[in-house]
Amino acid sequence: MTRFARILCVIYGATGLFLAWAAVQSKLAGSVWASFAFTATSIVPLIAYLREAEFTDAKAETRANVERAARVRENGERRAIREAADALQHVCCERWWTSLGTDHDPTCAKQRRAA
Ligand SMILES: [Zn+2]
Repeated sequence: MTRFARILCVIYGATGLFLAWAAVQSKLAGSVWASFAFTATSIVPLIAYLREAEFTDAKAETRANVERAARVRENGERRAIREAADALQHVCCERWWTSLGTDHDPTCAKQRRAA
């Protein structure tokens, strides 16, 4: 949870406590409808707190997914580089390139070995 989110949660808590206190004061003063209204509205900061916690969880999950995707992409790039390096180790002559690795130049050492 970020610092700003924590501050918001503290504000939500203070607002909820104030509304609960106002509900009790209204009840003691005999204003039933005001007491009911304060009680009902004291739920709103609780909902806001829960939404803030849910948002924080969703944000953390998104961050984890992005990091996981970056790791997978990085592993894929490393694998591609490794495969390219492995393929380039077999490069020996011009004909090998143009024949997709099926043939060698007559002067190539590998051609002599095969022949
Ligand atoms: Zn060759």
